[in-house]
Amino acid sequence: MTTTTPADRVTSAPAPAPALAVVRRLGPLDVLVFAAWCGLASGLLEVGTRVLSRSMDPTGRLYTMSRHFVWLGPLVDLLIFSGFGLVLAMVTKRWPRRGGWLGPRLILFWAVLPVLLIADPRIYLEAWVLLAWGIAVCWAPALERSATQSRRWMFRSFPGLLGIVLALAGLVFGGDRLKQWREADRPWPPAHSPNVLLIVLDTVRADHLSLYGYPRPTTPALQRLARRGIRFEQARAAAPWTLPSHASLFTGRWPHELAVKWRTPWQGSFPTLAEYLGAHGYATAGFVANTLYCSYDTGLDRGFTHYEDYLLEGLSPVRTAYLGDLTLKALAHLVQNVGGSLDPGPARAWQESLLRLVLTPDLVKREAASINRQFLDWLARRPQPGRPFFVFLNYSDTHSAYLLPPGASYRFGVKPQSPADYQLLEQWPELDKLELPQRDRTLAQDSYDNCLAYLDERLGELLDELQRRGALDQTMVIVTADHGEGLGEHELFDHGESLYRPEIRVPLVMVLPQRDQLGVVVNDPVSLRDLPATIADLAGLGTGAPFPGRSLARLWRDPARSSAAAGAGDAVLSELASPNPINPNRGRSPARRGPLISLAEGDFVYIRNQGDGTEELFDERDDPRELTNRARAAAMQPVLQRFRDRLDQMLSSRQAFRPRDSSAAFPAPAVVVPARSGRRTGSASESLLDWDMVRVYTSRIPSRWQHR
Ligand SMILES: [Zn+2]
Repeated sequence: MTTTTPADRVTSAPAPAPALAVVRRLGPLDVLVFAAWCGLASGLLEVGTRVLSRSMDPTGRLYTMSRHFVWLGPLVDLLIFSGFGLVLAMVTKRWPRRGGWLGPRLILFWAVLPVLLIADPRIYLEAWVLLAWGIAVCWAPALERSATQSRRWMFRSFPGLLGIVLALAGLVFGGDRLKQWREADRPWPPAHSPNVLLIVLDTVRADHLSLYGYPRPTTPALQRLARRGIRFEQARAAAPWTLPSHASLFTGRWPHELAVKWRTPWQGSFPTLAEYLGAHGYATAGFVANTLYCSYDTGLDRGFTHYEDYLLEGLSPVRTAYLGDLTLKALAHLVQNVGGSLDPGPARAWQESLLRLVLTPDLVKREAASINRQFLDWLARRPQPGRPFFVFLNYSDTHSAYLLPPGASYRFGVKPQSPADYQLLEQWPELDKLELPQRDRTLAQDSYDNCLAYLDERLGELLDELQRRGALDQTMVIVTADHGEGLGEHELFDHGESLYRPEIRVPLVMVLPQRDQLGVVVNDPVSLRDLPATIADLAGLGTGAPFPGRSLARLWRDPARSSAAAGAGDAVLSELASPNPINPNRGRSPARRGPLISLAEGDFVYIRNQGDGTEELFDERDDPRELTNRARAAAMQPVLQRFRDRLDQMLSSRQAFRPRDSSAAFPAPAVVVPARSGRRTGSASESLLDWDMVRVYTSRIPSRWQHR
């Protein structure tokens, strides 16, 4: 504080400055206390902003982090800001005038900026930076004028803020415990009710399984399983991407009834399979590898008592705070870019360790072995081991990047040989695949097969272990996939881009506990949306299940029906409202012209683009690769008209499925990533979300970095 002395008054002619103009600088202790308080307060504000903004407008709002963020985030912010405050306190001690001025402004800036970015991620980073700095510069003088009172007030309010954090933690843990109590109190299902094990292999196209005649032995374990049960030749997903497909197979609803968007959680109220089986006394649990689109965050956990998605291991908790998340991603980016140019040696090994540390487990694709372990641990530890269970497993090993975990061997075809090969596979979704040499595309296809074989082996291990524990004989096992994967057909790659067969036709195998359906094959087209009705039927819980659709059991209970002629099947719809925002095909997806809807019946599949009215008709029996569009063939007009009428009838009797405003329904991708070394564009926050979307599935760092 500036002071005057009697001597000053004698020697200086003008009067001293009035007290109001006196500027006080904060001392080192003030800075430290202020930083810690701001960390906790800002963390709580972040949580409130996340929750509030998502509840007000869920569009584009996925948390993409553990549900424990509500209490962990503020604590992480407290640590980050305390460390930051310590540094600023030391600076203030060394340079009292400059440090005392800069400290509170920097703290305020970093406390305000994340909240603004979370509140509206669509605004450009530069705008929020300017506003945050403006707020910091405006508020800091008020703090400096009443430093003593402010410090006292911070000390007094700190326990209150900590109390809020503890209360939030109590809500999360208390909610879990409440679910467990409710489950334990429910009457058990009728005697001899089977366990239900629903296994969803994320991104598995049926025609690459040796189970369906693929020449490479990719799925011997599934073949062994199918010999004990029922194999569906023409199972079709309701949507070519994860969230609507899972939501459909949990509820029996078509995607247009579910209103799911790429970055919007599913918030429907339709009863789910987990809710239904849980209400009938089943213990319910889910274990998911695809955290982005299957976690609690998306709403798919509804009805499950136990749900494991984001793991809190290593530095994962740091990601629950915005600044922590940002720091880790920036570090990972930096280390990856530097490490990519290094030759093998101690420097590369050191960087590999660093990268493993900063790329927290929830940003790296989880392996099948990890899902198996989580499930088997839960099975061994559950408090009521005799209670029948409904378990949902989601495996993501065949999702891009098509890389095996460290130590696993590539069995088929071209194997990744060089750092460039690993880089290619990691960046696969972002690349313009048509511009790549054929050898690179073959590498990707062969790697996909290798990942499939790896997944099948883990699946075999799980089934063997369940057999060893005596659980398999009381368990109904359903193995399927949420969608397939384009590997170049129709010049399309990845998924969520079309309704062509590579993305829609999926494996489906069912094994019933009594094993009275050995080796049955169902040839009719069936939709995964009928799974809830089928499972409710096979579980023998009586009539009155709340799921639309019909039990698929009719197809093997009545052999005449099962071998019925083409065209006799139930409606098998698939839908895609908008294309993959990662834009894996550089705008070539037909979904960029409008929403797609398809209907399969007998040997035919009819695809309509609701945007430009394009129609396609394929004869799947004669043309399984869907090379010839027969919509214009004169002989096909009666068939075409039948499909049109059927589709129109279905859609008119349900919620409208019309092309919406084209700019709203089909925005240009938020992030455009030119090949390999290109620069991303888009707002900073959008880039961060897309970074999540890309990195979650392209980060198999251990594999790439293991290469020598
Ligand atoms: Zn998926």
